[in-house]
Amino acid sequence: MKRAIVMGGSYAGLFAARVLSEYAEDVLVIEPDVIEEDGLGRRVPQRHQLHALLSMGHTQLERWFPGTTEELVKGGALLGEGDDVRFYLDGRLKAPAAGARMLGATRPFLESHLRRRVTALANVRFLRAQATDLVFRRGRVVGVTTAALDGGTGGTGETFDADFVVDAMGRNSPLEDWLARHGWDRAPVDSMRIDLGYATVLFHRGDELGSTVIAHSSPGPASDYRPALTEPGALAAVEGGRWSVVLAGYADHRPGPDPEEFLRRMRRCVAPLRTVADTSTMIGDVRTYRFVESRRRVHSRLNRFPGGLVVVGDALASVNPVYGQGLTLAALAANALGAHLRSTPFPQSPARDYFRLVEAVVEGAWQLSTAADLAQPHVTGPYPRGHRVQKWVADRLTEASVRDSAVNTRYMGVVNMELPPKALTDPRFLARAARVLLAG
Ligand SMILES: Cc1cc2nc3c(=O)[nH]c(=O)nc-3n(C[C@H](O)[C@H](O)[C@H](O)COP(=O)(O)OP(=O)(O)OC[C@H]3O[C@@H](n4cnc5c(N)ncnc54)[C@H](O)[C@@H]3O)c2cc1C
Repeated sequence: MKRAIVMGGSYAGLFAARVLSEYAEDVLVIEPDVIEEDGLGRRVPQRHQLHALLSMGHTQLERWFPGTTEELVKGGALLGEGDDVRFYLDGRLKAPAAGARMLGATRPFLESHLRRRVTALANVRFLRAQATDLVFRRGRVVGVTTAALDGGTGGTGETFDADFVVDAMGRNSPLEDWLARHGWDRAPVDSMRIDLGYATVLFHRGDELGSTVIAHSSPGPASDYRPALTEPGALAAVEGGRWSVVLAGYADHRPGPDPEEFLRRMRRCVAPLRTVADTSTMIGDVRTYRFVESRRRVHSRLNRFPGGLVVVGDALASVNPVYGQGLTLAALAANALGAHLRSTPFPQSPARDYFRLVEAVVEGAWQLSTAADLAQPHVTGPYPRGHRVQKWVADRLTEASVRDSAVNTRYMGVVNMELPPKALTDPRFLARAARVLLAG
């Protein structure tokens, strides 16, 4: 292709640009925000929040940007393995999962490294502007119009021709409105209202937790429909000798910005968070974020869709962040894009294969997150068929994963998106989980 355009230069856009650099002579990334390591880009407020990278996300990071982990670690990020990574459920430390490996870094730090790598690609350039519409010809997208930014800084208000266009404009992408304006149908949307609140703050890091890199605590079956036994939250050792600590809560239990309240809640968390609350000094403000609903757009349900256009990242699916799937889904969408472009002789045709591939990945993440969210008393559905039985089985498996390393290894393989959810229905795995539960 002569030119491919990526609208949005955040995490999903950077991965898409990396893939497209192998298929287009010229890749133009249109991004209105200035994204520096510490200047957080106002259009992605969640960059302030703690971001965990699932194992599959880490694998994809190294696939498309080899050597990034080493670079990040040299810059002060931490890589946790074995006992450095601790997961708690209902306040109990889970059995170790073989091969557990997690990166401790803030999202701006991770993203700034990727951006540097993408900027260094000879055929990729960034334009500081806002995409405002698409240009269509004979059923396919052939260009993108842009507008100058507020105050006339950056952006040229030009129209750019394109053979292929990627929507990586995030959760509030205007793409559907543009499509409707040009006579196309909007993609059907699945959604689940969860009303989640997040709050993240940094602390100075000493040696108060030894080699711990990640500690993550979530409510399990014992906390269903009653107050959680411990507050859900997590911490990560990040660059700059700091801890990033996040607390989460639903509906009326959303954490607020008051630092004293934050510390009080941390003291009701599992031991590592209590220790940091008691021994470390907070840096800066508590940043809050409200996430109202999980949402995915299902393009394969459309009868017609313009050629030469795909959707990646949060613009495609934005799921409850407590399961840490967003960055990994963004990277896997890039994989699907690569697979599509490798196999199609006509990239300017409707990308049905791409949507089929990527929606299969999203489906796994969606099943996992929405099934868990339905345990919240304020979440009112939609309930899938067989929900009660599924939940009963999932609760038993979760319990077995706390007690047994082999069960937890497979369980975490699914959580980390290395295995599909159906890996939890393997008869040998179920038999092992049953033995663990019967052994008491
Ligand atoms: C509170 C919270 C915590 C999270 N924690 C995790 C976690 O622990 N792990 C994890 O994997 N994921 C997490 N996520 C999800 C993760 O943040 C998203 O999945 C990720 O940001 C998606 O990247 P994206 O590039 O698709 O969209 P975004 O990061 O939202 O970026 C969209 C980009 O599009 C640009 N843009 C917007 N409009 C235009 C336009 N008109 N023209 C051009 N560009 C435009 C924006 O400036 C922005 O740069 C979390 C999300 C939230 C809300």
